[in-house]
Amino acid sequence: MSATTAIPAVSLAPGVAALAEKPEADRPHTPNQEDLAFGCPRFFLPEAKQVYVVVSSRARGVSVGVNLNPDQSCNFDCCYCEVGRRLTQAAGLAPVPVNTQTLAAELTEALTQLHNGSLLQSPAIAGLPAEMRRLAHVAISGDGEPTLCPNFSEAVESVVHLRAAGIVPFFKLVLITNSTALDLAEVRNGLRLFIRSDEIWAKLDAGTQAFMDRINQPEVPLTRVLANILQLARVRPVVIQSMFVETEGAMPDRVELTEYAKRLNELKAGGAQISLVQIYSATRPHHSRRCRHLSLRVLSEIAAFVRQMTGLRVEVF
Ligand code: SF4
Repeated sequence: MSATTAIPAVSLAPGVAALAEKPEADRPHTPNQEDLAFGCPRFFLPEAKQVYVVVSSRARGVSVGVNLNPDQSCNFDCCYCEVGRRLTQAAGLAPVPVNTQTLAAELTEALTQLHNGSLLQSPAIAGLPAEMRRLAHVAISGDGEPTLCPNFSEAVESVVHLRAAGIVPFFKLVLITNSTALDLAEVRNGLRLFIRSDEIWAKLDAGTQAFMDRINQPEVPLTRVLANILQLARVRPVVIQSMFVETEGAMPDRVELTEYAKRLNELKAGGAQISLVQIYSATRPHHSRRCRHLSLRVLSEIAAFVRQMTGLRVEVF
């Protein structure tokens, strides 16, 4: 990280500034239901194990997810993670390859049901506005970090094969990643199969190692995450995904938000193409009691601050 990057002199949006200065007891706590734009429940088709369906506000429609980590392998232990990571980490198991034939069969079935309309009748989708009742993308994702899947490139190849076969209409691919393994040859080989309209959504929740330790409890340092994002984003645009939550009663403060914005500016200065910054909070049940959802109002204030500091396109979800 460069210490010389110029950061514009701005002040925090009033609400964020006020939050950072408020005594803990006065700060907002658990969200009201109306704070949540979408509950985002996911569901599997009967018998399916590797492919699931979720209504995604960030995707603005239905996202069909390919789970490359049924084994829940991850090198983070985020406080907001929906997966109870302690048990899998304690077991010390190495990531296992996915069965790409099963994956392709399940994906074909889900996409076919979406296009013939039968899946749109499911309770999670039927009541949505028309513009949300559409396939937005197929997400390479997982119950862990998808790029740790030992046969990542083979899995991507099987999805790309299905797309090329034309059995179902064309779909966009999105990789959702914590960016820690983007430098691995296995992952680079898989990403070579992505076309220009496919997307990479890269997690960046912190601007300092200390804050990252608090939120993500990573096995990989922030410097490597930033280096990986930079290397990839010099070649193709990336979407930065940033989750902000209240942890142990503390909001993200102005110092951390400023450092986070500095890291984005350093990426930009290094040649990274950042098409969008997605700011969001934990909307699904998570295992840890250490963190809590932030309201849309607070997220909007954080977004306004990041927009002002970086000049990037920033959206709240
Ligand atoms: S990176 Fe994703 S899967 Fe891994 S701990 Fe964080 S939220 Fe969970």
